[in-house]
Amino acid sequence: MSVKYSFVTCKTALSTSKLPGLTYSLNPYIGCEHGCRYCYVPGVLNDRKLALEWGQSVKAKKNIPEVLAQEVKKKPKGVVGVSTVCDPYQPIEARLELTRKCIDILARQDFPVSIQTKSELVLRDIDLIVPGKFDVGVTITTMNRKLARWLEPNAASPDKRAQVLEEFSAKGVETWLFLGPIIPEINDSEQSIREVIEVAARTKSLVLYDKLNLRQWVMERLNDTMEKIDPRPPDQEAKLIRKLSEIWHETQTRIESTCKEKGVRCEPAFSKK
Ligand code: SF4
Repeated sequence: MSVKYSFVTCKTALSTSKLPGLTYSLNPYIGCEHGCRYCYVPGVLNDRKLALEWGQSVKAKKNIPEVLAQEVKKKPKGVVGVSTVCDPYQPIEARLELTRKCIDILARQDFPVSIQTKSELVLRDIDLIVPGKFDVGVTITTMNRKLARWLEPNAASPDKRAQVLEEFSAKGVETWLFLGPIIPEINDSEQSIREVIEVAARTKSLVLYDKLNLRQWVMERLNDTMEKIDPRPPDQEAKLIRKLSEIWHETQTRIESTCKEKGVRCEPAFSKK
């Protein structure tokens, strides 16, 4: 699948964030070539065109380092989430280095930075990402490579993501593992959850977990994947929605008891619903 790249200019770099633990968000790219089937970002941005071509088009904010360099002189210090509506280390970043330039500016101005990615490219910036100023989070939905390839077609393999946590944790950088989204009958088995939590235990990472967020257009993209994994009758969407709420409490209990057994700290990523 080829990705269409283009450049745009931005007027702001730091946006106020309502996400837990973040003061600002910084997104160097619009769109994400990782193309995760369950990604709800097009729904957040309320952009149907973007939803239909999600994973196939990326706009790079070419002037974001310059804009950020001005903003950090004026804005109050606060934790910056890098990134919240794209992956800051998606493949194009290897060439453009927009994320690298931005985190360098933030670190020099003493803004704490919280990085979330599904790419081992973040290891390129290990010289900048130092303990105390940064935390690094990696999303792992499953340790099954084949399933991960279906769900997250262009992201790094689960093993490579685990390696990211290993290397930053060994360096003393605070690490966390985002276990989610948990999708009924796809990645919610006891074994699947246990394998991911074992990575967190090995790397002394906090686990943040979450269920599937069924924002607009998520099911359209996910259906195709679910049919490949386990062909079902066409009423699967209704069934999935029903199961999501019916068994979520049970799934939460399974995650929390496995974390307790393994000595891993864990919390719901948002709130206990
Ligand atoms: S890496 Fe994140 S932003 Fe990118 S497609 Fe996947 S879920 Fe969406």
